[in-house]
Amino acid sequence: MNQALHNDLQNLEQLLQNTLSQGVDYLQQLNELPTSVNQSITDQLPLPLTGSGGTSTLAEFTSRYEKLMVASAGPRYWGFVTGGTTPAAIMGDILATIYDQNTQTAKGHGDLSGAIELETINMLLELFELPSNTFLGGFVTGATMSNFTCLGVARQWIGKELGFDAAKEGIQQPIKVLAAVPHSSSIKAIAMLGLGSSNISFVNTIDPSRESMDVAALESQIEQLNGAPFILISSGGTVNTVDYDDMQAIAQLKKKHNFWWHIDAAFGGFAVLSEQHKHLLKGWELADSITIDGHKWLNVPYESAFFFTRKEHAKLQIETFQNSNAPYLGDPLENFNFLNFLPENSRRFKALATWFTLKAYGKSGYEEIVTRNIAQAQRLGNFIDSTDEFRLLAPTRLNTVCFTLNETLSDKLDTFLDVLNGRGKVFMTPTVFNKTKGIRAALVNWRTTDEDVELVEKELLEVINLI
Ligand SMILES: *Cc1c(COP(=O)(O)O)cnc(C)c1O
Repeated sequence: MNQALHNDLQNLEQLLQNTLSQGVDYLQQLNELPTSVNQSITDQLPLPLTGSGGTSTLAEFTSRYEKLMVASAGPRYWGFVTGGTTPAAIMGDILATIYDQNTQTAKGHGDLSGAIELETINMLLELFELPSNTFLGGFVTGATMSNFTCLGVARQWIGKELGFDAAKEGIQQPIKVLAAVPHSSSIKAIAMLGLGSSNISFVNTIDPSRESMDVAALESQIEQLNGAPFILISSGGTVNTVDYDDMQAIAQLKKKHNFWWHIDAAFGGFAVLSEQHKHLLKGWELADSITIDGHKWLNVPYESAFFFTRKEHAKLQIETFQNSNAPYLGDPLENFNFLNFLPENSRRFKALATWFTLKAYGKSGYEEIVTRNIAQAQRLGNFIDSTDEFRLLAPTRLNTVCFTLNETLSDKLDTFLDVLNGRGKVFMTPTVFNKTKGIRAALVNWRTTDEDVELVEKELLEVINLI
């Protein structure tokens, strides 16, 4: 055995303890660490011929790079939609690395991590108040891949409706996809699936100032299709203003028309955990497929998302992702194997971080995080509304504040955001909503306190007075 490797094996306990203790120090300081760095990495290290072993590698990483790690898991990283990592999620994730199972089967061919993944999926169905006897699911790397997986099954379904097997024969005729304000990742998924992103037919929203689909407009577009099957991508929370398509109205249309109903609820699905907001998702249990992210509001480490697809579509799903040319035989749920159910073959035991955090904090733990973050976003929204310098671009519907500078300052928007982010106290992202440039703050982190919101309010005023 290589000498460095041999030494590290002898020294395993110390190496892992040192690594962990460095990680713990980092987490203890997370609230104060900057949310951005103003440096870049200019000199790239070459591959060493002889390795230096774990101890000196840790030291080298720490001195070169640890200071470049931004507090994206911290309480004031409000850019994109960025979750943190709960203590139990970190525990599960570390153990997933250590156990290093290749999560595929659910029934005793070697390891059983697939069965634990299915147990985790069932816990998630309970968390989201979806019927467990109706949906199956699995873990993928992010909502982009979840959308890809769901829309892949949709493609197989529509092929069958039109008389071809899309997985085997490819796409034999143009496929209709309808959506109002799909997330960019759904458009990417449609492109990756060969359906052609420019084939998406956009449905109007109920008003130019809204991102919610106009269901009457949808219905008249459906009528023009003369009964042809189609795929509907609906939003269970848009990223800019967290607007929802009317799930109940779409559920009604589903009774009359032949379409695959996909819901991208990457973070908006968590609205079911708020008594005040759960009505936004009423009817979603009738969807064919649902995307939800783990690394956002569930606060598990990257890369984690899951999909829910209806059990009745399991055969279509296996036709889409089957890892062999063998003809499919028998009950699709017999000898269930994730390998035939989603894009990846070899897979990390991703479900473990989620299993840990769900067991550790339960449904009420997540209700508390979600309702707290929503209240904090409302507070920030009210603050924005009360100032002369800023104005809301949309009402604060859930956990995201979409705002801009008032008219007299609007040409300073880019500078404002650069300075704000550069100071490292808070991170927000630029956006354009309803043709106006703005800024978006999305609150989905379990660590965020009301004091954090107060600190950010002060920071916004300080920065506006600086520029
Ligand atoms: C974040 C997000 C995605 C993409 O998720 P990734 O985890 O980055 O792949 C898709 N849809 C919505 C609504 C999102 O918020």
